[in-house]
Amino acid sequence: MHIAFAVGATQGAAKVTARARMGAMTGRMARTRRAALAEAVFERLAAADPEPKGELDSVNPFTLLVAVVLSAQATDAGVNKATKPLFAIADTPEKMAALGEEGLAERIKTIGLFRSKARHVVALSKALIDRYGGEVPRDREALESLPGVGRKTANVVLNIAFGEPTLAVDTHVFRVANRLGIAPGRTPREVEDELMKVVPPRFLAHAHHWLILHGRYVCKARKPACPVCVLRQICPWEPKTAGAPG
Ligand code: SF4
Repeated sequence: MHIAFAVGATQGAAKVTARARMGAMTGRMARTRRAALAEAVFERLAAADPEPKGELDSVNPFTLLVAVVLSAQATDAGVNKATKPLFAIADTPEKMAALGEEGLAERIKTIGLFRSKARHVVALSKALIDRYGGEVPRDREALESLPGVGRKTANVVLNIAFGEPTLAVDTHVFRVANRLGIAPGRTPREVEDELMKVVPPRFLAHAHHWLILHGRYVCKARKPACPVCVLRQICPWEPKTAGAPG
């Protein structure tokens, strides 16, 4: 018990130190400066990839909702592998609920946490039938009331399925926003709230995808590809200069 607490405390201190270092390195900018930087960031990301696409496969708002629930702590590629045959036979809440927890678990057993995810997906399918006529609601509160659906999942569905200007903050968005200093925050919610204040409205529809893809393929956690990054000239994150060509 004491050892676990000590380890937890050490990790907590390390996190705080890392955050402090990150804040110092990016320099905590005033919001007007961050907004100007955010505009420059999204202009460059948009120029490099005008129509960014999410990498989770889906065929309608319901299957998108299911795919996002299944993607927690799993890769998009791994989820797509399981959902391709699944969505071919169950692309509505009625068909999904009819599979039952066991039937669904069997079909998604290659995905981590598949038992609890199967339980959530069957329960949310039944809730959609009972409460929303089998339709995915275009409403944050309603979405977040569904089993297994949190703020991040609701944001993804509102943005991708309904074109709402929402911004889901996952691990990639969180890291990129903090490194660039455009939306520093200690929690996903803090980063989301800051991003909503500094991202120019014309970029909001795609901002989520640009940041995720940038974090996944370029601004990676352990070894960011700074030398080939389109944001290199404007990124204030100091460690990026090390080893990068001049
Ligand atoms: S320059 Fe490096 S740290 Fe900055 S956004 Fe690009 S990959 Fe990330």
